[in-house]
Amino acid sequence: MSKPFDVGLERLTGRAPDPEMVLGVTVGQRGTFFLETFGCQMNDHDSEKVAGLLHARGYQQVDTPEAASLILYNTCSIREKAAQKVFSRLGEYREKQGEGKVIGVLGCVAQQEGEDIFKRAPWVSLVCGSASYSKLPGMLAQLEAGNQRVTGLDTDTDETFETEVTRRDNPWRAYLTIIEGCDKACTYCVVPFTRGPERSRASDAILREVRQLAELGYSEVQLLGQTVNSYADPTARRMRFSELLLAVAEVRGIRRVRFTTSHPSDFTPDIVKAIEGEPKICDHVHLPVQSGSTRVLRAMQRTYSREEYLEKIALMRGANKPIGITTDIIVGFPGETESEFEETLSLLEEVRYDSMFSFKYSPRPNTPSLSMSDSVSEEEKSRRLAVLQDKQREIQAAKNARLVGEQFEVLVSGKSRRENQWSGYTTSHRMINFASQERELLGTYVQVRVTGAGPNSLAGEHAV
Ligand code: SF4
Repeated sequence: MSKPFDVGLERLTGRAPDPEMVLGVTVGQRGTFFLETFGCQMNDHDSEKVAGLLHARGYQQVDTPEAASLILYNTCSIREKAAQKVFSRLGEYREKQGEGKVIGVLGCVAQQEGEDIFKRAPWVSLVCGSASYSKLPGMLAQLEAGNQRVTGLDTDTDETFETEVTRRDNPWRAYLTIIEGCDKACTYCVVPFTRGPERSRASDAILREVRQLAELGYSEVQLLGQTVNSYADPTARRMRFSELLLAVAEVRGIRRVRFTTSHPSDFTPDIVKAIEGEPKICDHVHLPVQSGSTRVLRAMQRTYSREEYLEKIALMRGANKPIGITTDIIVGFPGETESEFEETLSLLEEVRYDSMFSFKYSPRPNTPSLSMSDSVSEEEKSRRLAVLQDKQREIQAAKNARLVGEQFEVLVSGKSRRENQWSGYTTSHRMINFASQERELLGTYVQVRVTGAGPNSLAGEHAV
């Protein structure tokens, strides 16, 4: 379900939004666009910004590439698969250019491959990296003026945050980028190359946008950044990340504040204190560990050891309320031995995460680990991944089973096709499917009693 207007419109126009008009331009006047996104929440939110910009320029969003005059792919390149996917998609739309359609590539793949995309797919007309979205209107103007190829590939700009309008897809939860790029240098990661150095957004601009979002009816905001907790306020206020969380929670109308992704090295006790002291700050922290072996962590340049990571976990376990902890893990990093992999398994046992994203290592262009010998065979990586995922599934099943009988507040965000079935998330980001006789619950907060549990979700009933 999408909100029928664009966030930020009232600020810009001083009037209630008209779904047919954006910034005085009739939607659809310039053409139609189809935008497909692969990747993380940062990418999803980037697509929301791009959709807002295109609407403001008079383009109308459509659901199929066939119906579009402008076809855009916004894709992440952290995993090899996403990059492969975009080129296979571009291949599928090769003939479309002959039909007068303009094809563009956005995001990390655009940043990474740059003008080489034109060589691999000469029918592409626009290549725009994630740090250059604010230049899109100018790039579109060049295309409309008949330019065959336009690029936006700067990474050293902080204009990224301040796109004029953002078209948000979720009507209750709004994503907000507070920090772009990354100054860490994990040896397997393309982000420092594709998104450039770390740039934090001014705290007053963030809070202004949160107030607008609250006025527009959003009750949950999720602060985003590759290393969100490395936030360094560039204004004279010098707000710490935990202070920013508290200030966002104070905005009238905001009921939940989430943040992702946290870097262990910058995860400090004041963040836990903020979660403990302010119920609106959600009791969930995504803290990627990547490996349970200090040697592998050093090779990855993750800037912490296993023991230092476990100290951060202990901070959260010592809090005055349970905090849901989730993570990312890579198996088969160059040189990872069987016993180092077992250290990751034992870390899983020790932390007992609530959920995990796990991946097989794949060498990425422009990363330092590319020069390391990719010594673990594909077969062995697949085996390790399966073992890891089996263990985590067991942990999740056991942890979730212990929640049966408990009651949680849920923001209802989905309605099943089955009669009286709804779904939503708890503050600790557990998915729960539940039954209710109410006729309309979407976007509301309800109490749900847990009646059943599986490894990936809970089942429950509306507690009235
Ligand atoms: S912290 Fe490491 S993995 Fe995360 S974005 Fe930065 S370089 Fe990549």
